[in-house]
Amino acid sequence: MSLTRTVLAALPLAVLFATQAGAQSTRRWKIHDMTRPVPAKVDASLPLPVPPPSDAVVLFDGTDLSKWRAADGSPAKWTINDGSLTAVAGGGAVYTRDGYGDIQLHVEWAAPSPGRGQGQGRGNSGVFLMSKYEVQVLDSRDNVSYADGQAAAVYGQYPPLVNASRPAGEWQAYDIVFRRPRFRPDGSVAQPARITVFHNGVLVQDNSEVWGPTGWLQHLPYKSHPDRLPLYLQDHGNPVLYRNIWLRELDEEPRRGPDRHQTKPLITMAPAMLDRYVGKYGQGIGQEVLVSRQGETLYAKFGLLAPLALLPHSKEEFSLRWTAATVMFDLADDGVPRSLTFHIGGDARPAARMAD
Ligand code: MG
Repeated sequence: MSLTRTVLAALPLAVLFATQAGAQSTRRWKIHDMTRPVPAKVDASLPLPVPPPSDAVVLFDGTDLSKWRAADGSPAKWTINDGSLTAVAGGGAVYTRDGYGDIQLHVEWAAPSPGRGQGQGRGNSGVFLMSKYEVQVLDSRDNVSYADGQAAAVYGQYPPLVNASRPAGEWQAYDIVFRRPRFRPDGSVAQPARITVFHNGVLVQDNSEVWGPTGWLQHLPYKSHPDRLPLYLQDHGNPVLYRNIWLRELDEEPRRGPDRHQTKPLITMAPAMLDRYVGKYGQGIGQEVLVSRQGETLYAKFGLLAPLALLPHSKEEFSLRWTAATVMFDLADDGVPRSLTFHIGGDARPAARMAD
């Protein structure tokens, strides 16, 4: 018996089944399977061009290629005519001079018209995020190819949800939200890359989890790479047009700052002390506030809302646990509240204690 068979024989059957089931659920189709269903066609009416917002990095505004270069660092070889950039067969890909990580990217493109060729040979180009993860560009309006290789596919992995392609010669737009992969210090993948794409305004990739770098025929594993890398537009031998390319750099995830809850110290109050606050408060606040105690916690019930926990910072000052609101009690000499003031959203709403 071979070593492999010995190892397999030693594994519990359930583990083998679980492994196979997991693989099937995420990769049900072989790469470039022609029997994979093609997405339904949708007519998208997004008006173009979409002007860049004020915080965008404009990569191409129709005038020059100063933000682009060839793979070897020399000037980009593509041509500009009437504000559009044309892919030059044999000119190679055009790379951004700067690197980017998490981005929102807007790209407008048009397949050559009249269309020539078929399948992957018709209007092929691509947007390679971080130079590794391709959102396919293809003349896919009326062109048979494998589903995971048509326009707006994450190439070889995810077909678009629908085919929102416009005919050759018409301008189309990709609005891409890209979250780069995260790697652990040992090079393993902490979080795969994720891609969301709107094609002509229609959602076609919904936070698709990328398996690894995209490639023809291949299933490539992730390899740890820098947090920022250039993106490039592919030269696939077809004179695809581009214009109005801009991006917005996104804050890295997770963007949670320090926990803003309970920055103010709390005090402990005995149940007997808390019972002094229990009662109805009303008038002026618009609705009755019912203060009650459960265990060692005071609760305030505002009208029909469920009771909200009140956390004590002092005998006078309490705050809501999840909401930026404060309840200030006005205590009499005996320590029993006569009224409260509810502070919320810049308002101060007094409420006198009502008779029990
Ligand atoms: Mg391509």
